[in-house]
Amino acid sequence: MNIEPETADFIIIGGGIAGASAGYELREMGKVIILEKESQPGYHTTGRSAAIFQKGYNGGDPVLYALVRASEDFLRNPPHGFTSHPLLSPRDLFYITTKENTAHLDRLQDNLSRINVGITLLDHKETKRALPHIADEYQDSALMEQDVADIDVSALHEGYLRAIKSSGGKIISNAEVTSLCRQKGHWHVTSAQGDFCARVIINAAGAWVDQIAEMANISPVNIQPLRRTMALIDTPLDIQPAKNDWPIVMDAAEKFYFKPDSGKILITPADQKLTVPCDAQPEEIDIAHAAQCLEKATNSTVNKIDHSWAGLRNHVADGHPVVGFDPQNGGFFWLAGQGGFGIKTAPAMGRITAALIAGRSLPQDILDLGLKEDQICVGRLK
Ligand SMILES: Cc1cc2nc3c(=O)[nH]c(=O)nc-3n(C[C@H](O)[C@H](O)[C@H](O)COP(=O)(O)OP(=O)(O)OC[C@H]3O[C@@H](n4cnc5c(N)ncnc54)[C@H](O)[C@@H]3O)c2cc1C
Repeated sequence: MNIEPETADFIIIGGGIAGASAGYELREMGKVIILEKESQPGYHTTGRSAAIFQKGYNGGDPVLYALVRASEDFLRNPPHGFTSHPLLSPRDLFYITTKENTAHLDRLQDNLSRINVGITLLDHKETKRALPHIADEYQDSALMEQDVADIDVSALHEGYLRAIKSSGGKIISNAEVTSLCRQKGHWHVTSAQGDFCARVIINAAGAWVDQIAEMANISPVNIQPLRRTMALIDTPLDIQPAKNDWPIVMDAAEKFYFKPDSGKILITPADQKLTVPCDAQPEEIDIAHAAQCLEKATNSTVNKIDHSWAGLRNHVADGHPVVGFDPQNGGFFWLAGQGGFGIKTAPAMGRITAALIAGRSLPQDILDLGLKEDQICVGRLK
């Protein structure tokens, strides 16, 4: 029996935050179908983040700053009915350093000032008062970044998916895409849940974007999946209890960062090991390193690691995202390379996706923040 493929205007491959934000912005332009290979759309990187909203990301990168700023309004004031929870909950963030490494803090201060991120430099006395649980050797000075928050990732992701469904779109799980071909201006997609057809494919497959491109005979963007470990640690007895209003503490050279999480401490040793696309798992050596970072920064002894996991931060060579139609292949749209910033930039990335698919330029408010299309386009990588 020959079953006709289900037709949509937009087929999005990957149901993480990237695919979900794109589907949300496209839902009024046509029928959206998201195909997700796992049983849960947030199973990979989206469900494994540190959930931090911060504008001074990656040492003050102006491209990422523009994307975070362009997402801020949506995250602070989501549309009516989008979610019943606030998407952002304020949390202070302090960058710390040891005396020998104050150059990192100075550089960060310069970079963040240059892009207008609100910061305050604390002297020794102020640092001691603000961060009493930090070891003396880190208390010489610190830099506070303003307007930082925790993101409710699951409320954001769920909000996107719910809105897509209520507009008649579909999220199909356990639907691994296994082949793609273009005929007469339409993409034909084979998946574990049947065949689909659309004029536009959005490749939002995270670590797997190059594999999806290969299925379509399209050259890769050379995505690099970098594994990062997170460990949830029982607060060391010397500094107990971890209070929920503790700030995020980040090493100025991003060698580690930690924050409170349900009475425990969530820490990453900021590892970035190049790997293949996979269900990332933490390695003992990185978990042990996470514990050592916490011991050194707080001058305490870690007794118990509650839980640990790892996720893939998927970068291209210049560390900026990849958004746009493939220059050689009509109807194949890339939405990739969100590295360690894909949650806080999702609203802007979704809007950029919808604008470019509609044949428009970047939204004016995003251009006004200094972002240029050639900084994020696919052509720069091919
Ligand atoms: C440890 C860690 C900490 C982080 N902290 C932060 C943070 O504090 N703030 C922030 O903004 N960002 C953070 N990030 C980054 C953020 O989590 C990512 O940028 C974002 O989740 C990427 O979303 P995505 O949708 O591109 O990828 P994913 O969530 O991985 O989604 C891609 C989806 O594609 C699916 N897929 C793949 N192949 C196929 C196929 N053939 N068929 C169908 N589906 C397929 C996968 O199953 C997957 O669900 C962090 C990341 C890590 C790892």
